[in-house]
Amino acid sequence: RAKLLQRAGHFYFSRSMGVDIRERVRLMHALRSALEAKELFVVYQPQIDLATRRPVGAEALLRWKTKDGTFIAPDRFIPIAEYSGLIIEIGEQVMRVACEELVRLQALGFTDFTMSVNVSQVQFRHPRFLDTLRNVLADTGAPASRIELEITESIAMEEPDALIELLGKIKQIGVSIAIDDFGTGFSSLSYLQRLQADRLKIDRGFVTEITSSARGSSIAEMVIQLGRNLGLSVVAEGVEDDRQAQILAALGCPLAQGYLFARPMPADQLQKWLAHHAA
Ligand code: C2E
Ligand code: MG
Ligand code: MG
Ligand code: MG
Repeated sequence: RAKLLQRAGHFYFSRSMGVDIRERVRLMHALRSALEAKELFVVYQPQIDLATRRPVGAEALLRWKTKDGTFIAPDRFIPIAEYSGLIIEIGEQVMRVACEELVRLQALGFTDFTMSVNVSQVQFRHPRFLDTLRNVLADTGAPASRIELEITESIAMEEPDALIELLGKIKQIGVSIAIDDFGTGFSSLSYLQRLQADRLKIDRGFVTEITSSARGSSIAEMVIQLGRNLGLSVVAEGVEDDRQAQILAALGCPLAQGYLFARPMPADQLQKWLAHHAA
């Protein structure tokens, strides 16, 4: 296997991963210069209340547009940012930009609006994560109570005690926690309760299944019920058609996000979209 040493630590790439190592290394270098060349930017996807169809918040999503105008998907470059340690710097910038945008939206009168930011497990494990979060909130003036961090269910499975302690500290600051892609991991229900999450995001895969078979909605239904029983908010991800939205609303799902309502968009478009849809 090939061993690569990076500033942020030691990382191993094994051939059995089935990915061309040279391609990864090329992307890693490209990503480093992308950060310097400001080819990375943040877009926002509205989250809506299913009963009223009014916007309640947005999720910040990272984009990489290279010099020649091609987009590289986050599912491709986030893992590389994680291996290389670049995610620490990139993740902090996303958090900062999203907080600045939230403050701008508040000034425009969208005071109840929340901003969700995805956080990688590599960021979470970094010893300075809490300090970074505190600094970003202090520098931008963003209200902690309107910020939500999205962590995946798979992070939630590793090093439970350390994670639970960290989540407790984050919640003390006033920041909320959402479990992203919920249903795709295998965390136990008692563990879920210990995490003190505020929100579950039903993975897009289960939302798609809702209309595909007779029992297709069973997992979505279970998550909605679980949310209700544990007093957690629930967001359905990747809602693409109105039938899905109607079934989710009928099942009592409070919130949704997806192409049916809005695609992720740059900040200036989000402001226009909100001015139009929040009225
Ligand atoms: P995620 O956090 O689960 O984000 C939801 C993904 O679903 C986004 O893809 C979004 O554009 C897409 N999506 C939303 N509605 C629909 C829909 O109706 N249909 C379909 N087909 N897709 C929809 P995106 O932006 O490509 O991001 C993919 C993943 O990359 C994210 O999944 C998240 O895990 C990661 N990611 C994105 N931005 C960041 C970031 O700033 N930091 C970290 N750590 N991860 C990020
Ligand atoms: Mg997310
Ligand atoms: Mg998700
Ligand atoms: Mg995802």
